[in-house]
Amino acid sequence: MGISKAEQIILKGISGSPGICIGKAYIVDREGVNITKRYPVSDALVPNEIDRFKQAVLKAKNDHAKVIDSLDKDLGENLNILETHMVLFKDKMLYGKTIETISKDKINAEWALRKVSRKVKIMFQKIDDVYLQARVNDIVQVSDKIMSYLVGAQDIKISDINKRVIIVAHDLSPADASQIQLERVKGFVTDRGGKDSHTSIIAKALRIPSVLGLGIATINIKSDDFLIVDGSSGTLIINPDEDTLFKYEERMVKFEEYRAGLERDSHLPAVTKDGISLNLMANIELVEEVVAAKDYGAIGIGLFRTEFLYLDLKRFPTEDELLCKYKELVEFMSPQSVTIRTLDINGDKVNPYLTSIEEANPSLGLRAVRFCLENEDIFITQLKAIFRAAAFGNIKLLIPMISCVEEIIQVKQVMNKAILELEYEDKIFNKDIPLGVMIEVPSAVMIAENLAEHVDFFSIGTNDLIQYSMAIDRSNRMVAHLYQALNPAVLKMIKMTYDAAEKKCIDLVMCGEMAGDPMNIPVLVGLGLTNFSMNSASVPIVKRLIRNLDTKKAKNNVEKIMKLNCVQEIFDFILEEYKDILPFGEVDE
Ligand code: PEP
Ligand code: MG
Repeated sequence: MGISKAEQIILKGISGSPGICIGKAYIVDREGVNITKRYPVSDALVPNEIDRFKQAVLKAKNDHAKVIDSLDKDLGENLNILETHMVLFKDKMLYGKTIETISKDKINAEWALRKVSRKVKIMFQKIDDVYLQARVNDIVQVSDKIMSYLVGAQDIKISDINKRVIIVAHDLSPADASQIQLERVKGFVTDRGGKDSHTSIIAKALRIPSVLGLGIATINIKSDDFLIVDGSSGTLIINPDEDTLFKYEERMVKFEEYRAGLERDSHLPAVTKDGISLNLMANIELVEEVVAAKDYGAIGIGLFRTEFLYLDLKRFPTEDELLCKYKELVEFMSPQSVTIRTLDINGDKVNPYLTSIEEANPSLGLRAVRFCLENEDIFITQLKAIFRAAAFGNIKLLIPMISCVEEIIQVKQVMNKAILELEYEDKIFNKDIPLGVMIEVPSAVMIAENLAEHVDFFSIGTNDLIQYSMAIDRSNRMVAHLYQALNPAVLKMIKMTYDAAEKKCIDLVMCGEMAGDPMNIPVLVGLGLTNFSMNSASVPIVKRLIRNLDTKKAKNNVEKIMKLNCVQEIFDFILEEYKDILPFGEVDE
């Protein structure tokens, strides 16, 4: 590949997942539909403009009809939503008013549509009816669809990209990222996104270098620009000069060698220098990742994020479809355990097909168990599939986002309903599986002892625990500097959870990304934790560190660490104390 004559630009972002890739940019412009301009249209051309609008509506409608036809008819609520959209395409408020605005204001169709849809949106939002307010989302989606045909920016399907490229996008949702075909896409960069956002978790699972939170990448990059993505340091280089390219080609080779070395050792046991055995498990999002998890030396699945099955299908799966996937997974891992976490949608894992609710603060809204308790039929379907799969292997059941004791009591009631249904239907299942809750909301930490009365284990979800305790949106790049796993407040909460689990004699795992960063391991081991689950690519790195770690030293050090005041002091202390065993310097200049 040749070097561009254009000037080299270096941008700093947030490391999404480590590794280096070099290649051509491929812009996925999802924002195109939102940057329309207003221009006047002469009297003579108004009919053309109206016709252009009608054509766009027709195409969008046909497209939508195809989607409906291709779907399972047994979709209940979801099919209703899609059928509502079908009606909205020709709705007087949107369709009729846009045509009227084109001819009255003598403006282009895009601007008229934008003006009308905004007005309708505001009008709906003002109505004091939750159902009608929720329809705002439908209007936005329908008008975006029409707009995409007007501006010629139909959605690029990530799964259809067929060149070896680096994706450049303003934003990629976790569902988008999970569509990436590894043999085609080398890496990706986005303007938005923060540390340990779900998009970065998917990138790590795919082992695809990525830099997020670049802010202005899409403004600076044109399609086919030559890029270097350094996911380890969070650097993006646009049109590199010859020296830079040479340096990064060397680094890329070194990184691959380093990774291969780690993987060679991945099957050695995770035993510390002083003989303490720790459990390293893997977090997965899709059943297909399970092979990689085993290859990386994970001894079980400590977190199966089930929501991605739902996001990919773009509808709610049936009990049998879920059973089929869960069974495949547990049979493959047997006799090792698989912790299946119930649906954790909304927050940043929202999918318009699954929910039509527009929330001002999605992360604080109807997410995870809150959504499941509101939508009992969906919850029961999943629980039944989990109990049925438990007849084929070693399953643990994990409930996300528990914030009070009432919720876990309610969950147990729904579990009983699922069990009764299975008994009535005479299905084969196993209800005697350990039940755990995620400790990922500060309130859950504070009432950990009470929660422990109702469950068999805790799983600390640091990704959200950091988000909610530091009050920072984990996908917002502007506050990424406050996303501090080693903040004294976070460490205190981990200790409180550990103490509660010890006192109540229940198991404790950490499944947040914090467990996958070698820098944090001496502290976590020092605090007494022995069970960790992480993205599978981190297992070999963490394992290597553990094999060089002395738990007595870690315990002594943690006492000093817990007295330090701020994250920088803690960071410096760890660097100094463990410089000989931390994996830095293996892949640097
Ligand atoms: C967490 O919050 O730490 C966690 C493991 O769950 P998720 O990243 O899916 O929110
Ligand atoms: Mg979470």
